[in-house]
Amino acid sequence: MSDKKNYGFTTTILHNDRLKGIEHGSLHKPIHTSVAFGYADARQLASVFQGKEPGFRYGRQGNPTISALEDKVNKMEQGVGTICFATGMGAIGAVVQALLRTGDHVVSSAFLFGNTNSLWQTAMSQGIGVSFVDATDVANVEAAITENTRVVFVETIANPRTQVADLKRIGALCQARGILYVVDNTMTTPYLFLPKEVGAGLVVNALTKSIGGHGNALGGSLTDTGAYDWTRFPNIYENYKKAAPLQWGLAQIRAKALRDFGSSLAPDAAHHIAVGAETLALRMQRTTANALALAEMLEKDERVAAVYYPGLPSHPQHAISAELFRAHGSLLSFELKDGLDCFDFLNRLQLAIPASNLGDNRTLIIPVAHTIFFEMGAERRASMGIAESLIRVSVGIEDTADLLDDFCTALEGC
Ligand SMILES: *Cc1c(COP(=O)(O)O)cnc(C)c1O
Repeated sequence: MSDKKNYGFTTTILHNDRLKGIEHGSLHKPIHTSVAFGYADARQLASVFQGKEPGFRYGRQGNPTISALEDKVNKMEQGVGTICFATGMGAIGAVVQALLRTGDHVVSSAFLFGNTNSLWQTAMSQGIGVSFVDATDVANVEAAITENTRVVFVETIANPRTQVADLKRIGALCQARGILYVVDNTMTTPYLFLPKEVGAGLVVNALTKSIGGHGNALGGSLTDTGAYDWTRFPNIYENYKKAAPLQWGLAQIRAKALRDFGSSLAPDAAHHIAVGAETLALRMQRTTANALALAEMLEKDERVAAVYYPGLPSHPQHAISAELFRAHGSLLSFELKDGLDCFDFLNRLQLAIPASNLGDNRTLIIPVAHTIFFEMGAERRASMGIAESLIRVSVGIEDTADLLDDFCTALEGC
């Protein structure tokens, strides 16, 4: 098999390992557990440590199993390089640890995964300014930019209310101002959307979610798309400017975040994620079709007060979602009408499981304000558009009729 051909998404992921001259003819990259590595001689040891030749130094900074997954994620995102982390939060945390300094400023979408919101609060307590804006309109991002703004951060489809950021225009704005544009692609995955195409410099993926897909391993990644000119970034240390500018960002992130903070992906988790990733496209085709069918059914139901899913024409950013994404994602949220108890409803479901992961093969459902967004309080929830009765559904690969029937029965008949 040649690696010169321009293969499709799934073919590329499926065959990537064996194109690399894999050990003993294994078709999967084996799980390497060694923390230390041997070299031909002591001079080579020094040369690897000094970055003069390729090789592994110590397990915290990577190993062959992690490296094979990094290569795969990188192919999916069409990047120039990818670094894996222990979790998605490890990857986002690395942006703060490696790239931001006291006095810097970040413009972040206000519509965020709850733990990312909490991370920005921590950054603020360490002297980094963060402005939260409604990123569905680029004008709000532009108005918040200051001369100290180093990063603009958005999610593609926000978890849990599904607002879609004004991705293209924000990309053009960041490009014009020389600001690093970081896009969390977890909800869309590189199968539905390539943030590189709207000018994102760094792409976050929580590999725990749809890319791993089976809810059996934690992981995260940062991909450098090559779209950002690192010579415009004032926080790169001289040490990491030795290679071509294209590599400055990841060189600093690998050392200052992965090496120094140690949020390293475990080799067995990397293996689980790599196996899961083989079926990403197939699973996304099924989950996005299921999500659309469920959203359409719920929207018609008179006991449902509101449904949030970018695939519905009633969604405020439906047109942007249709323009940019291959499908509208696997996540939807909805509110029951006043007087209907969401706990009673959840307890009547037989298939959908009350649990907090997403991107799993199984449909998972959670009352947001009472659980994952409880800690932040009612006021902040309201500012993020999260009603107290909001229910989030991460739609799985169950047979569509079974899934619809489960929701129908829990609503006590359709
Ligand atoms: C889950 C999630 C994360 C964090 O990923 P973990 O692997 O759980 O740390 C980040 N961003 C989004 C949008 C997520 O849904």
